[in-house]
Amino acid sequence: MTDVPFWNREVETAERSRLQQLQLQRLKGIIGWALRTPFYKRRLSQAGINSPDDVRSLQDLQRVPFTTKDDLRQNFPKGLLAVDMREVVRIHSSSGTTGIPTVIYFTRDDIDNWTDLLARSITGTGAGVGDVFQNMMSYGLFTGGLGLHYGAERVGMTVIPIGGGNTKRQIQTMKDFQTTILHITPSYLLHVHSRLGEDGIFRKDLALRKAFIGAEPHSENTRRKIQDLLQIEAYNSYGLSELNGPGVAFECVCRKDMHVWEDAYIAEVIDPKTGEVLKDGQEGELVLTNLVRCAMPMLRYRTRDLAFLHPEGCDCGRTHRRLSRILGRTDDMLIINGVNVFPSQIEEKIMKIPEVATNYQIHVDKKGALDRLTVKVEIYPKLFLGEVAVLEALRNKIREDLQASITIAPIVELHEPGSLPVSEGKAKRVVDDRPKD
Ligand code: ADP
Ligand code: ZN
Repeated sequence: MTDVPFWNREVETAERSRLQQLQLQRLKGIIGWALRTPFYKRRLSQAGINSPDDVRSLQDLQRVPFTTKDDLRQNFPKGLLAVDMREVVRIHSSSGTTGIPTVIYFTRDDIDNWTDLLARSITGTGAGVGDVFQNMMSYGLFTGGLGLHYGAERVGMTVIPIGGGNTKRQIQTMKDFQTTILHITPSYLLHVHSRLGEDGIFRKDLALRKAFIGAEPHSENTRRKIQDLLQIEAYNSYGLSELNGPGVAFECVCRKDMHVWEDAYIAEVIDPKTGEVLKDGQEGELVLTNLVRCAMPMLRYRTRDLAFLHPEGCDCGRTHRRLSRILGRTDDMLIINGVNVFPSQIEEKIMKIPEVATNYQIHVDKKGALDRLTVKVEIYPKLFLGEVAVLEALRNKIREDLQASITIAPIVELHEPGSLPVSEGKAKRVVDDRPKD
């Protein structure tokens, strides 16, 4: 492929053997940092690792026990801190989607290394000097905003640190500064699209070229929808605060899943039940080890995100393996009358149906002894002007499509655009009103 942009060609296209050599060298380094923390000192010594020299090959990583979000919580606030607080220049915290937030520490070098990964990610999409970057992710303790902000400045884009929310102002800003690149959650981007035209600003008045979309699960059909509606290229961006934040994996110009930056992270995919390490191509839970963050080393962190690693290379020439899009979270699976259902399966189906607009919600409650699943979807307004029979046929079609995928037939409700709740950050798609026992 010609015209592939690189930030650090040497590292991004390094031979696998060279990359693995670098990983081993850095793994030893990070084990050294980890041994400075009370938590890992205990954990590692139980596994017979008392010095970096006890790790002789990348295989040896499998001797290290997994780290979980609970470990982070139980060792709050400083059990995983490997440096003196005087060296910590920043603290971030996860957004706490599923419980108490967790804290992450960075030294100056950690921030520098992280920023470099983002500069690399951004450059890989073909964005750079001359682009105007509207950062619509929230700033603050959440890593999404500041992470990309620093990376965007490093590559030399013009950065608008607007943060999330205030849709009218976002659209006005896109016009005023002729924004070319957005960073935003896919759900909020679809919402923004639905509000275009309200104040007389239309797509033709904007200079948008690309969007970096991430922070929440979304399907390939959602990406297509975004690309078609907005006439832009949408790039998937993956990360989590425990492993710095965004910049763990990012799509290149090929837009065929995300390169994991393997000089900075070791990615494994495991069977979430047995902990066994799976082969490339097999789907399971992603486990990540941080190779370049010394303030808070993270060894074999169980992300709870379900995905697989592509065994084959990428047309762009990068040698770093690609991670599939996130297929679900081990903790977002719904069990409905004994059937396992992932919200992502529902999204994939409904976003393919042209009549469906840009928002939806999944609702679960109880009717008598049984669970009841309701899928609420917004459809385009003109459909409500049509005949009832047409709406009925659409409802049936959605129900049948969903049943083919998830095996149970949900109740389908059709709603007017703008009537379902909107999130300006991570969308809350599932409302589970079943009594907890
Ligand atoms: P949390 O949401 O767990 O409080 P973070 O704010 O760090 O913490 O969010 C990280 C999580 O967000 C990831 O573990 C993953 O579940 C989700 N996520 C981030 N990027 C993506 C993406 N591109 N696709 C799907 N899910 C994503
Ligand atoms: Zn590539």
